[in-house]
Amino acid sequence: MVVPKHNAQQGTRPGVSRRSLAQRTEALSTPSSPRKITSRIDAITELNNDYRQVAPPIPRSVKIELTARCDLNCFFCATAKRLRHKADMDRDFYKRIVRELRDEGVQELGVFYLGESFLCDWLPEAIRYAKQDCGFPYVFLTTNGRMATAERVEQCMQAGLDSLKFSFNNADPEQFHEVTGVRAKDFANIIRNIKDARRVRDAGHYDCGIYASSIQYDGEQLTRMQKAVDEIRPYLDEHYWLPLYGQAGLTSGERGTTPIAGNPGRVGALRPPIPCWALFTEGHITFDGRLSACCFDHDGRFNMGDLTKMPFRQAWHSEPFQQLRRAHLENRIPGTVCEKCVAYE
Ligand code: SF4
Ligand code: SF4
Repeated sequence: MVVPKHNAQQGTRPGVSRRSLAQRTEALSTPSSPRKITSRIDAITELNNDYRQVAPPIPRSVKIELTARCDLNCFFCATAKRLRHKADMDRDFYKRIVRELRDEGVQELGVFYLGESFLCDWLPEAIRYAKQDCGFPYVFLTTNGRMATAERVEQCMQAGLDSLKFSFNNADPEQFHEVTGVRAKDFANIIRNIKDARRVRDAGHYDCGIYASSIQYDGEQLTRMQKAVDEIRPYLDEHYWLPLYGQAGLTSGERGTTPIAGNPGRVGALRPPIPCWALFTEGHITFDGRLSACCFDHDGRFNMGDLTKMPFRQAWHSEPFQQLRRAHLENRIPGTVCEKCVAYE
């Protein structure tokens, strides 16, 4: 089935406030086509000289954990191990910190971190606030897709969501159950939700990219997933592959998989594990207001500052964060919180 290409010119959303010239210019200067998520990802995972310093500029992108809860228990993800308290973010804190991030010049806001944000009932309001009240040029979301029903996706698109990405990591209902621990029949619901997201997007002329990524696990997974990926691909603006991360050492080698060091990004644009771009070019805020140095801070060991008590800039340039970045720049990882993650290199 061929789905008509979305016309970006039709993407004006009723109710979206007019943006200033500066904000529109900034939006145009963000990398590449709005329908190419990999260009945006690659721009964040590339550690260029501007950011390669112990106290780098404020990052272009920040992910914020509306909730740390998740409805799946994927074997490769330390979320399932419940290594830190899991709850939802306080809404007043969200508003305060999101406004501050925008005032500091952050351009891309991910309304998720290590949980499933469709479990958060104020997800559309969070998107609306970031997009319409604070004027973020780009608000993005990654979901496992299980609860991303057409109705809820439309609420997010109406609120101004720019990018919706599905983590689509299984070939069939049986593998879905094996990997996530959740009932096999939800696999079909996820596929339906992906297709519905595209229909909703096109019918409403929403200016939101729809994407999916898949983890390769091992060499066989590409072949095993071929049919499932072929089924969803016509509904996506882009699909891409990821390696199986070791999640800061917490899941390396789980179920006999091959361990991998650091967070090398996506297949096709793999980055060196050291220095790790995640420390320099993207912020991560946990539901309880900590600035985390790592994209896989499942156990709280990467806390670089309490944002309920200090400004983002102060935590971004805090002494612990500078020490960790210095260790990466000088390739002295033993003894740091990253030691377990890169030990497999
Ligand atoms: S990989 Fe995603 S969906 Fe799976 S347990 Fe982790 S956060 Fe949940
Ligand atoms: S543990 Fe350190 S090296 Fe590994 S992904 Fe996190 S920040 Fe990067």
